Amino acid sequence: MPHYRGCTVYFPALAIMVLAGFAGSPAAVQAAQVTQAAQVNQAGEAKQAGEARGTLDDPIIDSEMTEAEAFEGLDPRCPEAIRSRQALIEVLYYSGDGKIHQGQLVIDRDLVRDIQAAFAAAREEKFPFTSVIPISHPKFRKNGRWDDGLSMAANNTSAFNYREITGGKRLSNHAYGRAIDINPATNPYIRGTLVLPPGATYDPDAPGAVTADSAITMTLVELGWNWGGTWDDRKDYQHFEKPLER
Ligand SMILES: [Zn+2]
Repeated sequence: MPHYRGCTVYFPALAIMVLAGFAGSPAAVQAAQVTQAAQVNQAGEAKQAGEARGTLDDPIIDSEMTEAEAFEGLDPRCPEAIRSRQALIEVLYYSGDGKIHQGQLVIDRDLVRDIQAAFAAAREEKFPFTSVIPISHPKFRKNGRWDDGLSMAANNTSAFNYREITGGKRLSNHAYGRAIDINPATNPYIRGTLVLPPGATYDPDAPGAVTADSAITMTLVELGWNWGGTWDDRKDYQHFEKPLER
């Protein structure tokens, strides 16, 4: 592709030089350079203003946070030893429109390969993600703090969040960047009568539902992750974790 693009920029410039009959003169060289610069510039602007095609080469951007933005508003109790292990990564996935989108995740640096393998497997079967945006995004804030409830209600997939486990005091594996929640509204947490996000139902046939034979599940389980859909005392269909060996 770079060769093709190079030719499309170069040949019109050459044609102008030849047609004008002053090829080789300093003015011609200058004209060619100007034409080339203008076309590259036009192409650059066109790409910014135009719509992404929704392909692997030209994905629709769902999230493009900076490192500073991704950790802005982090719970001040989070130890630096945990914070410094977290990686902000880009992931590619199909969304509900059948196009490739690019989102971001914050995850422990040791698990980046596992996560990219899971997203590659998900793309193979065109598994749809509603969105994959770090939970620090302003739209998932409540009273200035990162809010899992708002992310879940939006069916947003996320990983790192310095917080306790649902209904308990102990730190969640999300607090270490060692857990991911996938399409939480499609894959709710269910414990007795408690359903999170509230009102969600689990239909294994729904688009974006995680099941035992989803490519994501098979890939992550193979890599040593646990899936909350197999737990006995509760079902956490959205949740995968790979705890540190303790
Ligand atoms: Zn979770």
